[in-house]
Amino acid sequence: MVIIYDFHLSLKQYAKRGKENNFPEVDKCPCCRGKVRLRRHGFFWRNALQRGNQYRIPICRLKCPSCQKTVSLLPDFLIPHFQYTLSAVLEQLRAGLLGKTVGYYQLVQFYRKRFLAQLKQVAMFFRDEGFRGILPKDTKAKAIKLLEMVLALGKATFLRRSTGHFTSNFMAH
Ligand SMILES: [Zn+2]
Repeated sequence: MVIIYDFHLSLKQYAKRGKENNFPEVDKCPCCRGKVRLRRHGFFWRNALQRGNQYRIPICRLKCPSCQKTVSLLPDFLIPHFQYTLSAVLEQLRAGLLGKTVGYYQLVQFYRKRFLAQLKQVAMFFRDEGFRGILPKDTKAKAIKLLEMVLALGKATFLRRSTGHFTSNFMAH
């Protein structure tokens, strides 16, 4: 299980702090919903890519003393399982939808496919947030509109708030 957490840090800052970062205490288990303080359970290291820079960053792991499941605290500038940051993915996705792709054609097509497959859920999220407007019927126009709404809300805010609307997240299968 993943908790997407707002560390109020950029990727660069987060990478610089490394394990010395101020990791939060979590008092509710997202797996069993128990009101228990999760124990620190080491780190794993992953890559994070943005604008030609590659960082190797630690991800804090926690373990529930009640159900024994592990939880990772993922900074909200990353999408689970994506090496590129949320900003980078959305930039590429936007370029792809607008037909302005530069390089990484296959990667952009992959992002595009993933996002289009989740459009209904993305729209549902905004309906639940109170959006009463009309969405375009055309899939591509709808995707562009919804992506603009994601950017207007704040991409990290969207990522954190929308997790319950998806099996995993808005770019997962
Ligand atoms: Zn638990």
